[in-house]
Amino acid sequence: MYDVTVIGCGVIGAGIAYELSHYALSVAVVEKENDVACGTTKANSAIVHAGYDPEPGTKMARLNVEGSNMMEGLCKKLNVFYKKAGSLVIAFDNSDMDILKELLERGKQNGVKDLRILTKKQTLEIEPGLSHEIVGSLYAPTAAIIDPWGLCIAMAQSAVLNGAKLFLNSTVGEITDEGGFYRIKAGNNVIETKYIVNAAGTFADKINNMVAKPFFRILPVKGEYYILDKSEGSLVSHTIFQAPGKFGKGVLISPTVHGNLIVGPTADAAEGPEDTSVTAQGLEKVMKTALRSDTHVNFRESIRNFAGVRATADTRSDFIIDASPDAPRFVNAAAIKSPGLSSSPAIAKEVRSILESIGLVCEEKDFFTDYRRETLFKLMTAEEKEKALKSNPLYGRVICRCETITEGDIRSVLNGPIPPVSIDGVKRRCNAGMGRCQGGFCGPRVHEILSRERKVPMEEIVQDRADSYLLTGETKMGRMENEKL
Ligand SMILES: Cc1cc2nc3c(=O)[nH]c(=O)nc-3n(C[C@H](O)[C@H](O)[C@H](O)COP(=O)(O)OP(=O)(O)OC[C@H]3O[C@@H](n4cnc5c(N)ncnc54)[C@H](O)[C@@H]3O)c2cc1C
Repeated sequence: MYDVTVIGCGVIGAGIAYELSHYALSVAVVEKENDVACGTTKANSAIVHAGYDPEPGTKMARLNVEGSNMMEGLCKKLNVFYKKAGSLVIAFDNSDMDILKELLERGKQNGVKDLRILTKKQTLEIEPGLSHEIVGSLYAPTAAIIDPWGLCIAMAQSAVLNGAKLFLNSTVGEITDEGGFYRIKAGNNVIETKYIVNAAGTFADKINNMVAKPFFRILPVKGEYYILDKSEGSLVSHTIFQAPGKFGKGVLISPTVHGNLIVGPTADAAEGPEDTSVTAQGLEKVMKTALRSDTHVNFRESIRNFAGVRATADTRSDFIIDASPDAPRFVNAAAIKSPGLSSSPAIAKEVRSILESIGLVCEEKDFFTDYRRETLFKLMTAEEKEKALKSNPLYGRVICRCETITEGDIRSVLNGPIPPVSIDGVKRRCNAGMGRCQGGFCGPRVHEILSRERKVPMEEIVQDRADSYLLTGETKMGRMENEKL
């Protein structure tokens, strides 16, 4: 019998598990995929928004600003990439300037620090490549860029290290109220729990409806992106937004913590909760809009397109973070669209306090150990490199040439508290395959290492999700090669 079971292990579920694992509680986390951070958490703009956008007085406004204030310290503790790059919302005419003034006012009400309007000259001084058509901007120095899946993985790993039990490949299909506790059927597992937190992202309405009255529907909204090569990564040094329209924050141009340039997203109705397809029309829209902000964006240097799906609710625009009125001991953390990533540490604390308000006793543990993400060999100091090489000579064998990731780095993440089972799982943990060739060269090497270290035949290794096999069988040389390995 668990005290609390969290359904879904994106950045929201992982954050809640991380928070709860600081207390003397038995915590389970149930995830339908073969790894954590496989939903919206791995496909977004990766911005820690300052908090001037949400309407004052909403949960979204409060939790965004609180989360943004907590993020730098949390990332330092967990060794997650984070950079306070700042953001600019640019205006092209007077009506855009009126929107910026409104955002400034909202930001002040929400408690965002150091927010100010810049003139055209001041804007171009700090971001000289921008279009000279602009008339001014709203500058938010507290906005940041972050590694979103890195944060999720680090929080989930810390939770596991401190006693939380993670069930992967476990789709929650049924929940029954047994009077005093719940029984959850999740894949092949049956989990008994006193409390449930629903953090199932774009599936949160379905989980709610298993135990409580339906009161919202998720209408998924897709956002498509370009990722440009590192050669373009310093085109801008801040995150550049245009004045928002009625469909949200619009298309941004931003450096990423990994050194690339990200451009997007669109905001179009998705065909389902997992519709991450990219379209020619969507990408064209991104390109046209971005070139208005900065004519120098070189889309010929695109190395990847992807899409993420927002968990937009039909009945309200705020986050749904509440104890259910009709299911006892059931808490929703639903409709967590943007700025959900920015708000995630604050949402976790909010959920813990809601659980306490409905009877969960939380006593802080005497010991808690954060799991710091593995430092990549290329980022170590000379001394650390020497030490690492002595303890494991495989740090001297480069596997991913684009990103300079060594076999030592890969082995190190394979020994973490939530070892990756897929090639993309390795990528999300140590960046192998994130470079210009997108795993064209290192993919087969990572495949071999995964097979060897996990003692699983090559044919059973997947690229990403459960059935994304890469090999269907052996060629005549296959067996000989495998035997050599
Ligand atoms: C295009 C786009 C851009 C964005 N940009 C930003 C940004 O720059 N800054 C920001 O702050 N926010 C941004 N967001 C929002 C942010 O990405 C989300 O708020 C956040 O990732 C939501 O995390 P989550 O854990 O709720 O959802 P998810 O990451 O989707 O996690 C939910 C998990 O639940 C699992 N699950 C679902 N159903 C079941 C089931 N039945 N059984 C078991 N497990 C289940 C899923 O597999 C998934 O892993 C953006 C979102 C999008 C789509």
